[in-house]
Amino acid sequence: MFDRALKILILSPEMVPFAKTGGLADVAGSLPKALATLQNGNDVLHDVRVAIPRYKQIEEASYLMDFPVRIAGRNATAVIRTRAIEAQYQGVHRNLPVYMVDNYHYFYRDGMYMFPDEAERFGFFCRAVLEMLPRLNWQPDLIHCNDWQTGLVPLLLKTVYQSDPLFKHIATVFTIHNLQYQGNFPHEDLELLGLDEEFFTPGRIEFYGTVSFMKAGIVYADVINTVSRTYAREIQTQELGERMDGILRMRANDLYGIVNGINYHEFNPKTDQRIYRNFDHNDIGGKKDNKYALQKEMGLPVRDVPVIGLISRLVDQKGLDIILEIINDLTQAELQLVVLGSGDPRYEKLFGQLRGRFPQKVGAFIAFNAILAQRIYAGSDMFLMPSRFEPCGLGQLISMRYGTVPIVRSTGGLADTVHDFNPATGSGNGFAFEPYTGEALLSTVQRALKLYREDPGQWEKLVRRVMELDYSWARSGVEYLQLFQEALRKHAGVKTMTA
Ligand code: ADP
Repeated sequence: MFDRALKILILSPEMVPFAKTGGLADVAGSLPKALATLQNGNDVLHDVRVAIPRYKQIEEASYLMDFPVRIAGRNATAVIRTRAIEAQYQGVHRNLPVYMVDNYHYFYRDGMYMFPDEAERFGFFCRAVLEMLPRLNWQPDLIHCNDWQTGLVPLLLKTVYQSDPLFKHIATVFTIHNLQYQGNFPHEDLELLGLDEEFFTPGRIEFYGTVSFMKAGIVYADVINTVSRTYAREIQTQELGERMDGILRMRANDLYGIVNGINYHEFNPKTDQRIYRNFDHNDIGGKKDNKYALQKEMGLPVRDVPVIGLISRLVDQKGLDIILEIINDLTQAELQLVVLGSGDPRYEKLFGQLRGRFPQKVGAFIAFNAILAQRIYAGSDMFLMPSRFEPCGLGQLISMRYGTVPIVRSTGGLADTVHDFNPATGSGNGFAFEPYTGEALLSTVQRALKLYREDPGQWEKLVRRVMELDYSWARSGVEYLQLFQEALRKHAGVKTMTA
C-alpha cells in the first residue's frame, strides 16, 4: 500500500496503560502498535509515535526537553517526558515512543478532566505538541487527532502555522469517538487560546455562542473519521448530530468511519488468566464451567439456564431505561441476568435494587471491576447492549471473542458488527432490533432464548461463529493506513485555507 515509511503522530487525551476513562484509551493504546507492525508485504515499517498529557497518575517518565508555550497571555513551561511502549504483533517486535506533555499547574491534579480551565489545559497541550516537533527534529507526515481535546491542532496547522515549511506538509485526521463530548467554552476563552476574534464565526469555531474544540477539529482537519460507518452516517442527522450535523453534512465528502478493533492478546479466552477456565472455539464446553463459577460468585442458583450479561457505564446512552421497562417480563422468563456497571447514581440505585427484588434471577455488582468483567464475558451465554446510540462499542466485540452472543440495538457500531440471526438460513452473528422500545428489546431477547432452548445445535454453531470473527486491530489498522493515505492526498490537493 505504501512504498515508503510514513511518520505518524497520534494525539490522544488518554491511553492504555497510562491513563484511562473510556474506550478511547484502549484505541490509543492498541492502534499505534498495530500501525507500527503492519508490513503490507514490502518490508515498510511505519514510524509511529504518540503524544498524551502527563497526568499525576503517570509515575515514571524520562525527561527529554522543556520549552515555553504561549497560553493565557503568558509563557508556560512544557516539559516533555517519554516512555516507550512495546509493539509485538505479527512477528514484528518494536519499541514506540510516547511523548508526555507535562506541566505541573495543568496536569498535576487528582483526575484527568472536568476542571474549570479545560480550554486552557488542552489549548496548552495542543500548542505544546506542535512546538515540540521542530525541537525533536522530527516532522510527521500526518497527525491523527482524537476527540475534542486535540481539536485545536488541525486549526493551528491550517492557520497559525500554515506558512511555516516545517509544518505546512503535515496532514491531519480528526477522529470523533463520541460526538456528545464537544469541548465548548465561553467566548472569552478565545483570547487565552491566543486566537483572534476573526475565528469566532459560524464557518470557523463559533458554536452557538461558544468556542468549540470539537468544531475546530471538524472544520480544519483534512479528513474526519469516526469509529464506525453507521455512526459516520448517523451524526449527519439531526437526531444524533448533537447540533454538529450541519457542519458534518458540509464535510460529508471528507467524513469516514472505521470500526475499532480489540486487543486479541489481552482478550483471548484461551490464555486469559482472569476467567475461571480457559477455552477456545474448539472447546466451547469450557464456557459452561465459566457459567457455573460465575453463578456461584454472583450468588445465583447454579444451574443450566441461559445467563445474560450486561457490562456498562450506567448512563442514558446505554439503553438502560428500556431494560428497566421490561424487567418484570424479563425476569418471568427462564434466565439469569448478571449486571456489572457504574455511573449515574439514579441507575446505580435502580440496578442495585434488582438483586433484592429478584434474588433467584438477577446478580448485580455496582462497581468498575475489570476482572469480574472478563468473568461475565466468559460465563454468559448472551450479552445485552440495547444502546440508544453507540459510536462503536467494545462490549459486543469482547463478548463475541468469548463466545457470548450479543443482543443489540442496531445503531452505530453495533449495526456494523452485529447482524441479526436468521433462523431460515442460519446467517447472522447475534440478535438485533431497531425501534428504541422495551417491546422490541423483549421480543428480541425472547428470540434468542427460543433458539438457545429449542435448537442447541444451531446455538452451538452460532457461538463458534462469533468466536471466529476477526475484530482485531490487524484488520482495522489496515483501514486506518488507507485513511491516512487519503488524508495525505487531500492535504496535497487542497489549497491552504486562510483564517
Ligand atoms: P463506552 O466507551 O461508551 O463506555 P464501549 O463499549 O466502547 O463503551 O467500552 C466500554 C468498555 O469498558 C468495555 O471494555 C467494557 O468491558 C468496559 N466496562 C464498562 N463498564 C465496566 C465496569 N463497570 N467494570 C469493568 N469494565 C467495564
